[in-house]
Amino acid sequence: MKAAVVNQSSDGQVEIKELKLRELEAGEALVDVVCCGVCHTDLHVAKGDFGKVPGRVIGHEGIGVVSKIADDVTSLKVGDRVSIAWFFEGCGVCEYCITGKETFCRSVKNAGFSVDGAMAEKCIVTADYAVKVPDGLDSYQASSVTCAGVTTYKAVKVADVKAGQWIVIFGVGGLGNLAVQYAKKVFNAKVIAVDINDDKLQLAKEVGADKIYNSAKIEDVAAKIQEDVGGAYAAIVTAVSKVAFNQAVNSLRATGKVVAVGLPPETMDLSIVKTVLDGIEVIGSLVGTRQDLIEAFQFAADGLVVPVVHKRKLSEVNEIFAEMEAGKIQGRMVVDMQG
Ligand SMILES: [Zn+2]
Ligand SMILES: [Zn+2]
Repeated sequence: MKAAVVNQSSDGQVEIKELKLRELEAGEALVDVVCCGVCHTDLHVAKGDFGKVPGRVIGHEGIGVVSKIADDVTSLKVGDRVSIAWFFEGCGVCEYCITGKETFCRSVKNAGFSVDGAMAEKCIVTADYAVKVPDGLDSYQASSVTCAGVTTYKAVKVADVKAGQWIVIFGVGGLGNLAVQYAKKVFNAKVIAVDINDDKLQLAKEVGADKIYNSAKIEDVAAKIQEDVGGAYAAIVTAVSKVAFNQAVNSLRATGKVVAVGLPPETMDLSIVKTVLDGIEVIGSLVGTRQDLIEAFQFAADGLVVPVVHKRKLSEVNEIFAEMEAGKIQGRMVVDMQG
């Protein structure tokens, strides 16, 4: 089978190689991959940013059809359509795994990083961890929900925003656009989108943002949010910028919550006095559990959330990485593994 693997020097490029798959072991299923989205995380893996993994098959936004199961598998059957997500498998028995926080399992396996992923014609999955895709949801859109969708759905859940309350989404690119949709259409919140790119803001408005602010053109966007709506109940930061994190804290009303999703390699400034006097909460949110993904899929299948996707070829992965680094990508690039 053809697969995109991290090259020997882990310099940010993948090679398209012909690989032979091993036999299935107990608890596993074989998936014929239909498509797999390309994520910024794949680029981090290819560069060795989380540790070098030469030879690893990348990809954690995979959608495919089960073609074979090990004898002991009961959770899947041949013909089921399933996803291959970054959260590939937890240990199943630790405190995190049994309290609905399985993505924080200390023995977690991640598709396309610690185990071979879905940017390949076939992929072996742990059957109990492969979430089924509901009928009526296009595989390409499902691919996007598997990572960006569930990540932002979970972030809005963690933000704990109620219907009618204001939430601010800082950074409305691929992730943020979906955050706007989940916040608006699923949680019935009122949404402010903040970005430095007018095209992305316009797209955010089209998918439901009530207000859009270009923080490169407004002197103090946090002050503007305080003035316009009396401060937000929550803010989600998908922007890879320290500035956005600081603006997020300052845009909140008392007892508001900042949910961190983006991963800028810096630290954020946090006034301890403001944090205490205003009862501010700052919390990180990492992808989503299997149950979160089931829910995120269903809202997309119901048509409430519509990811923007573009079909690409396996031979174009390095090109897609280059476009990503140049900031040229709108929506999600999804590789057609059948073509
Ligand atoms: Zn991803
Ligand atoms: Zn665990």
